[in-house]
Amino acid sequence: MAKATKTIRQALHYPPQYAAYFASNQILFNRVVAFYFEVIQAHEGLLALNNKEALTALEKLTHTTESNPHPIMPLTDLAPDIPALFRRAAINAALGSARSFFSSLKTWRARKEKHEAKQTKKGKSRPFRGRPPVPPRSWKKSAPFYASLWRERCTRSIMLKVWTGSCWSWLKIHTLSRDLPDGDLMGSPQLVRKGDRWWLHTPIEKTFEAPAKVREQLTAAQARLCAVDLNLDHHVAVCSVQTVDGTILATSFIGNGTAVSGCRKKLLGRIARNRSQTGIIAENEQDNADLWAKIRHVDEQIAHLVSSRIVQFATKHEASILVFEHLGNLRPEQGTYSRRGNTKRAYWMKGRIFRYATYKAWHAGGIITARVNPRNTSRECHRCHGLVVRYNQGQPQEGYTPGAALCICPQCQMRDHADRNASLRVGQRLIERTQAPLKEKPHALTRRAKREPKGSGVGISQDAKRQWGPSLPAARRGDHANGHGTAQRGRRRMGAPLPDIASQLRIHFE
Ligand SMILES: [Zn+2]
Repeated sequence: MAKATKTIRQALHYPPQYAAYFASNQILFNRVVAFYFEVIQAHEGLLALNNKEALTALEKLTHTTESNPHPIMPLTDLAPDIPALFRRAAINAALGSARSFFSSLKTWRARKEKHEAKQTKKGKSRPFRGRPPVPPRSWKKSAPFYASLWRERCTRSIMLKVWTGSCWSWLKIHTLSRDLPDGDLMGSPQLVRKGDRWWLHTPIEKTFEAPAKVREQLTAAQARLCAVDLNLDHHVAVCSVQTVDGTILATSFIGNGTAVSGCRKKLLGRIARNRSQTGIIAENEQDNADLWAKIRHVDEQIAHLVSSRIVQFATKHEASILVFEHLGNLRPEQGTYSRRGNTKRAYWMKGRIFRYATYKAWHAGGIITARVNPRNTSRECHRCHGLVVRYNQGQPQEGYTPGAALCICPQCQMRDHADRNASLRVGQRLIERTQAPLKEKPHALTRRAKREPKGSGVGISQDAKRQWGPSLPAARRGDHANGHGTAQRGRRRMGAPLPDIASQLRIHFE
């Protein structure tokens, strides 16, 4: 079974004095966590136990009961009558922090030892300069509410047991905005401070049947994949659904990139003008804070909207794989401050849309995401893979105008919207990758490799890699110099080894 966890964030409506109660509840929680962290530091052996055993052991060390009247480090010094589950939440939080701290300490010690051994071997005595990890100096954890610390939860309100600074009391708090989905496993809610407001965060866990790996899914001819071409202008995303055997089912054009970039450019221009009028910018202080916040919010909002539209479209057409291109390098742009800043942000937004779409797709019942090489996806014809002519309406049908809306293939007379053609190519790339792994390889590589003697397999792949960059056609759409690294990232993401250049070479020559 596969799991998808997300957090439902709810704004709260409460009387003003509650804010102080929530704050003292959190302070107490962090004091208890800090206390248990110290107890664990004093009894390092506890970390060898699993969480449940460690919890029992820690309670025995600190909690006074009839059978355990004199614990070694009593907790009662901090506050009276701490509820059992408040204590347990704190113990779990402290255990988590302690495990992380001691594991980095262990790594640090190992590195130090290795360094010293090396120095003795060489007969030198350069001291080890790596800094040891420091235990947390201040604690800012949000207090979770385990079962029995909350009750009567409904769509509009919840009762929470809170330490007000003087006593434990049940507070009724109204929750705003979103409803909780039914049928999913709900975790313990948490009171989280954001600025001067408090929010209720509830983790939701959804379980579903684990989807098959990309490679396995692509063996079925009827498997559907939704390929996405992300643009900087016009339509932010163009998606098309096709089956593995090549039937094109649907296309969707999402977002108005021109409007987004126009809005952003206007704001950036305003910032530039303000700056030129002020002349100086204070150090360590954000200038034009409101305008920057607005730019950030617009980008965030658009990325969320576009990514969820992509996932909705994929779900509607029952696609089980989302395909994106790898992001190329950001090309530095000439021009004014606002122009450069705008391109940079549009580029970042592509990355953001990919990130958001990945998790949203996983939540929508386990749609998996894959990425392919972006080279020439918009230059090739989706029907015959020849080079297309790209032009704008009313212009002569010749040459290649980057960013133009229409394309025609001189070989097979295919006429289409250029972005739709690109998205179809993106999808085909993924299919080609599993069906004919050697197809994507540049021809120069093969020719060069054949000239080398057979024994030097490693030498070939290194040479070949160096050759690979310059031998690409100069006019390509997205830069993808580091084919090796990106392929490895793909492998980690999907768990299935993808045929990258290095492994292809190995298969080919060993
Ligand atoms: Zn064609």
